[in-house]
Amino acid sequence: MKTIGHFINGEICTNNDRTQAVYNPTTGQAEKEVLLASKELVEQAITYAQAAYPAWRNTPAIKRARVMFRYKELLEKNAEKICQLIGEEHGKIAHDAMGELQRGIENVEYACGAPELLKGEHSKNVGPNIDSWSEFQPLGVVAGITPFNFPAMVPLWMFPMAIVCGNCFILKPSERDPSAALFIADLLKQAGLPDGVMNVVNGDKVAVDTLLSDARIKAVSFVGSTPIAEYIYTQANANGKRVQALGGAKNHAIVMPDADVDNAVNQLLGAAFGSSGERCMALSVVVAVGDAVANLLVEKLATGMSDLKVGAFSDSSNDFGPVITKQHQEKVEGYIESAEKQGATVVVDGRNPKVKGYEDGFYVGGTLLDNVTADMSSYKEEIFGPVLQVIRVKTMQEAMDLIDAHEYGNGTCIFTRDGEAARYFSDHIQVGMVGINVPLPVPVAYHSFGGWKRSLFGDLHAYGPDSVRFYTKRKTITQRWPSAGVREGIEFSMPTMN
Ligand code: NAD
Repeated sequence: MKTIGHFINGEICTNNDRTQAVYNPTTGQAEKEVLLASKELVEQAITYAQAAYPAWRNTPAIKRARVMFRYKELLEKNAEKICQLIGEEHGKIAHDAMGELQRGIENVEYACGAPELLKGEHSKNVGPNIDSWSEFQPLGVVAGITPFNFPAMVPLWMFPMAIVCGNCFILKPSERDPSAALFIADLLKQAGLPDGVMNVVNGDKVAVDTLLSDARIKAVSFVGSTPIAEYIYTQANANGKRVQALGGAKNHAIVMPDADVDNAVNQLLGAAFGSSGERCMALSVVVAVGDAVANLLVEKLATGMSDLKVGAFSDSSNDFGPVITKQHQEKVEGYIESAEKQGATVVVDGRNPKVKGYEDGFYVGGTLLDNVTADMSSYKEEIFGPVLQVIRVKTMQEAMDLIDAHEYGNGTCIFTRDGEAARYFSDHIQVGMVGINVPLPVPVAYHSFGGWKRSLFGDLHAYGPDSVRFYTKRKTITQRWPSAGVREGIEFSMPTMN
C-alpha cells in the first residue's frame, strides 16, 4: 500500500507517524494510507520555515515572482498527473479536475504580479521636507488548512500569494485526498523555491491544533465546514493570530417567472450536480417564484436529469463521480430520506445507483426534491451532495427573505430577464457572491472570494486583492531630511499642516 508522507524543508518525509486509510471513492477501496503528523513533526516543520524566512523575506519581489512564473509552467506541464491524483482520491471526473486546476493556476498568475501588488503607497511633501509611505511587509510563517473538495485549487488560493509576499508556508491538506497538494508542493522546489519556504504536513486535529497554538505561526487561512471554521477562528484569534476561516454554504437560485427556463435548467443541472454537489458554491436550492415556473422547472429538470451519468472519474463521458466517503454517501442519502419523511416530494431518487463495474464505489445519483420547506433539515443544513431542492414561493421578496434568513451566505444567483429585479437583488441580498444568470459566481483570481454570515469568519476574503492584505502587514514610514544647516524648533502641540 502506498504511504503518503509530508513535504518538509524540501524533502518528502515518511517517518513513523500514525496513519489513516485513503480511499479511492470510485472503487470504494482503501488503496493508500496517509501519515498523520505528530505535534513534534509539525513543530519541526515550523522550525524549518522559520529558518528559511529571513532570506526569503529579503529576496527581491521580482525574484520571488519569477519562481511563480516557472511554477505556473510546471503546473500546466503536470496537469494530467495532478488530475489523476485528484481523481484517485476525490473521485471528480477528469474534465472537472482540469477546471479546478485551471482555476488554481489563475491564482499563480495573479501572484506573478507581486512586484506591482506590493509597491505600496507614497506621498511626497506631507510636511516641510517630509515624505511618507506605506509598505506591505510579510508576516513570517503562516499556515493554510484546506478541505477535501478542491484538493489542488484551495491550497492554490493560499500559498502562491502568501509565498510571493515573502512569507513561509505550512499547508495542512485534507487527510482524505492529500496527494495532489503534496505533489504540487514538490513542483515548487523544481520551480526554484528555496527549501523550507513551503512545507506540507499531513494530518488531523493534532496537526491543526499545533498550528493554532504555536506562537511562531502568524496567520491562519482555513477553508472547510462551518463548525470547524468557527473553531479555527476562535482558537487562532485567542492565540493572537490573524485568521480567515471560510465555512459551509447553502446556495439558492431564484428563478423568476420571466426567466429563460431552458437556459436556467441547463445552468442548474451543472451547478447542482457538477462535482457531485461537493462544491461550496454548488446551487442546491431552487426558489421558484410562482407555481407556473415551478411546474415547468421541475418537469424540465427531471427530464434533463434522466441523461445525467454518474460513474468513474476516469471516464470523461460521465457528468459526475462518487462522493468522498461511505459515511458521506450515507449522510447524503439520510437527508433525502428525512426530506421525504418531512413531506418533500422525491421527483428523482438518486439513492443506490447502479454503477457497473464499480459496485462498491460511494455513489449517489442526481436527486430532485420538490415542495421542500424551510423547516426541513435537508434545507437547513448543508448536504454537500448531488441533491437539488425546489422551494415554491409567490414573490421575489419572499424568495429574498428566505435566502436572507438562512445561516449561510456564500453564493446565490437569480435567473431573470428583468434588469431592475436583478439590480435590486444584487444590491440587497445578504450573500457575499452573487450571480445574475450565472449559476456559479466564483470570483476570478483578481477579485476575492468570500461569503457572508456563517460562511466566513474573519474580515478579509480569500485570494485576489484581499489576500495581499491578509498575508502582509502595513508599515507606514514618515521621513524628514532637513536641509543642511536648518534646525527645527521644539513643538509641543500635535503636528499639523496649519
Ligand atoms: P472539514 O471542515 O471537515 O475539514 C477541513 C479541514 O479541517 C481539513 O483539513 C481537516 O483535516 C480539518 N479538520 C476537520 N476536523 C477538524 C477538527 N475537529 N479540528 C481541527 N481540524 C479539523 O471540511 P471538509 O469536509 O474537508 O470540506 C467540505 C466543507 O468545506 C463543506 O462544508 C464546504 O462547504 C466547505 N468549503 C467551503 C469553501 C468556501 O470557500 N467557503 C470552499 C470549499 C469547501
